[in-house]
Amino acid sequence: MTKRLKNGYFIYTFGCQMNERDSESLAGFLTQMGYEKVLQPEEAAVILINTCCVRESAEQKILGRLGELNKHKKADPEVIIGIGGCMVQQPGMSDKIRTSYRHVDLVFGTHNLHQLPIMIERCRQSQERIIDVWDSEGEIIEELPERSVEGIKAHVTIMYGCDNYCSYCIVPYVRGRERSRQPKDIVAEVESLVKQGVREVTLLGQNVNSYGKDLQPPISFGTLLQEVNKIDKLERIRFTTSHPKDFDPTLIEAMTKAPKVCEQIHLPVQAGSNAVLEAMNRGYNRAYYLDLISKIRQALPNVALTTDLIIGFPGETEEDFADTLDLLEKVRFDNAFTFLYSRRSGTPAAEMENQISDETKRERFQKLLKLQNKISLEQNEPLVGQVLEVLVEGPSKTNPDKLTGRTRGNKIVVFDGQEDSIGQIVSVKIEEVRTWTLLGNLEDTRP
Ligand code: SF4
Repeated sequence: MTKRLKNGYFIYTFGCQMNERDSESLAGFLTQMGYEKVLQPEEAAVILINTCCVRESAEQKILGRLGELNKHKKADPEVIIGIGGCMVQQPGMSDKIRTSYRHVDLVFGTHNLHQLPIMIERCRQSQERIIDVWDSEGEIIEELPERSVEGIKAHVTIMYGCDNYCSYCIVPYVRGRERSRQPKDIVAEVESLVKQGVREVTLLGQNVNSYGKDLQPPISFGTLLQEVNKIDKLERIRFTTSHPKDFDPTLIEAMTKAPKVCEQIHLPVQAGSNAVLEAMNRGYNRAYYLDLISKIRQALPNVALTTDLIIGFPGETEEDFADTLDLLEKVRFDNAFTFLYSRRSGTPAAEMENQISDETKRERFQKLLKLQNKISLEQNEPLVGQVLEVLVEGPSKTNPDKLTGRTRGNKIVVFDGQEDSIGQIVSVKIEEVRTWTLLGNLEDTRP
């Protein structure tokens, strides 16, 4: 039988990279309090769920998991069970948890996760349930625990919230308005990560292109990139997510001047039809998007471009869908992450009348996938014979005798090599390409 540790903690994380980063902070607080990470909830004295609510299907899964956790409370009434994050931030959700999930001790939102230590202490001492979800965002809390990272890559949150109100998205309602961190705090966090061996950082925000507009004095995202670019021993900088409407020429110029910033941009287009883009409230049309892509490619000819697409948005006709396929042909993304539209209550799109059937969505999805897979492979073919700079990450998961790493364009490369090159930049000559992976041979240890 698994033994429960008095100081063990276990965190379930659902959702995006922002949530992963929040879970790192929760873990940091627990470590500061003397807790240790354990591998199974059966070993933990504190079990937390950090939730996501972007998809309604995820919500059902999370509530199912929350219900299952009751067995730990029954096995040991001293176990603390907590839930936080985006899902909890929705109206009525904390009441639902209070009344229907009586084994839950702690409920907190996205704006007060820094209060976790106080909440756990109160809960321990008084044995009372603590339900504390803040409606508004308040100040950015910089006194988060020092991060301890393993590996050579890390994510760094540069801003919180989103002001865009895309009609299908719940984020602005649960993560609040845009708030940027001070550049000095971001630079200090990256410097500390680099001291721990990190070589690549990804700067994170729901819309990084509007970074700094709320600061006094305002600064641009391009300026921040140039500041982070100065950090010694840092090899690579990436960023996500970009909003096309805020991706201005100064950012393109900054990317050309900051050599550590990789030539890779994830630029969600979501749809190729003007009517759908308007219904989504995206703030741009296809002509604008295509023009932006052409400006980016002029400045950064080797750029790798990826995107997000939503299939079957309410009202999407066959012509609208054909426009999306046409846009894929025109842009030729290296990869596209495709989602079937799913109704998210609390958003304007959920109330739209002309919802698309699941069958139609699936048919369109298959067509789109086939096209994009073909394009992704064609985008990789010219790489055969090229020598690419690869940051070595470790043994390949699919072929442990080989190493794997990523190019500046974020493509996965599998090649023969020595473990002592992990964490280093090497040159790999590409011999064969597949849709998602490049295969090659080591040329040299440094390009
Ligand atoms: S930009 Fe749109 S899709 Fe992205 S987080 Fe903001 S509201 Fe949601």
